Amino acid sequence: MFGVSTETVRYTYRLRPGAEAERSLLAEWGRCRFLWNEAVHQQRTGNRPTFARLSKLLTEARSHFTWLRDGSQVAQQQTLRNYSLALTQSFKVKGRGRPKFKKRKETLPTLEYTVHGFSIRDDRLRLPGGVSIPVVWSRELPTAPTSVRVYQDSLGHWYASFVTRRENESATAVDGAIGIDWGVTTTATATQPAYDLPYTGHRKRCAAELAKTQRKMSRRRRPRGYPPSNGYKNAQRQAARLHKKATRQNTHTARAWAKRIVDDHQVIAVEDFKPKFLARSSMARKAADAAIGTAKRTLVEYAERACRTVVLVPPAYTTMTCSKCASRNKTRMLLAERTFRCDACGHTADRDRNAAWTILATAERNRAGADDVSHSLSPPVQVVGSDAV
Ligand SMILES: [Zn+2]
Repeated sequence: MFGVSTETVRYTYRLRPGAEAERSLLAEWGRCRFLWNEAVHQQRTGNRPTFARLSKLLTEARSHFTWLRDGSQVAQQQTLRNYSLALTQSFKVKGRGRPKFKKRKETLPTLEYTVHGFSIRDDRLRLPGGVSIPVVWSRELPTAPTSVRVYQDSLGHWYASFVTRRENESATAVDGAIGIDWGVTTTATATQPAYDLPYTGHRKRCAAELAKTQRKMSRRRRPRGYPPSNGYKNAQRQAARLHKKATRQNTHTARAWAKRIVDDHQVIAVEDFKPKFLARSSMARKAADAAIGTAKRTLVEYAERACRTVVLVPPAYTTMTCSKCASRNKTRMLLAERTFRCDACGHTADRDRNAAWTILATAERNRAGADDVSHSLSPPVQVVGSDAV
């Protein structure tokens, strides 16, 4: 159906800068942050900072100040380009605020270089000013990258995120349809048990280590009004590191799972779950919701890339509707009830499995109706009503 096409993707790698390289990166960030803040100032004082005007100011400023000239022009220009993009977006997108000042203690370093500003030689990332950083090449870059974003995360780790093009192999059509229901104990229940995604949360070893650091934190916590001790801060950092590790594992399993689903199914019907992150819900519930959010986002992204049909089905009544005869039970099931029983036809099934089948049936019914009207104009993601019985 589709020939081999190419797609633009990001490939991210861990960087291991030495002390000197790190100092250069931070200095570069300091200069770029100054320029960003200067642009914000221009905007706030009514000077309408377009990219053209900012570029001109940058050229002038670089001719006056050596400390600015010491930095990379590519990175500085890219900062201003990002600023003007953010400013334009803030006028177009509802609810998006104007770009704000980047405070030193509150923002993490990020630098961008276009193809003129960086190179890869001897397995190292070379940046302007003779900066050379070893890269952990965890996988091969498919083609030569066109730009790179170098950034530091909250734990102090550095990363390089390359923009590159690769062949889109998954865009060949396959048969098969699948329905997916989200849940707390099992992140995703599919119509076929082989495609379930169990909830791993903090894996066992991670969870034990996390509990240990949390006990350490509570032991070292000082009373209200006193600055936290170094021991407390250390324990806090340890906990953050473990959280991050668990999140990374979740992302990894979600990706592997999404790929398997997309490889084998053309039509993917998904419960349109929207996590609420209520302040009153427990930490465990929030973590489970986050896992669902990651899995859903990854699945939709992979499916769109492979030209699959994704149908988002609103979650109303999916657990109360029989997947066999489509009749709806009168009473809502309690959360503890794990088996669905149909009042009309007596069909019994696992609660989540029944919901997955209902989601698929709803999607197919609505798609059949929609296809009568337009065959080719259907958008890649469709949102359908759930109670068209
Ligand atoms: Zn039934």
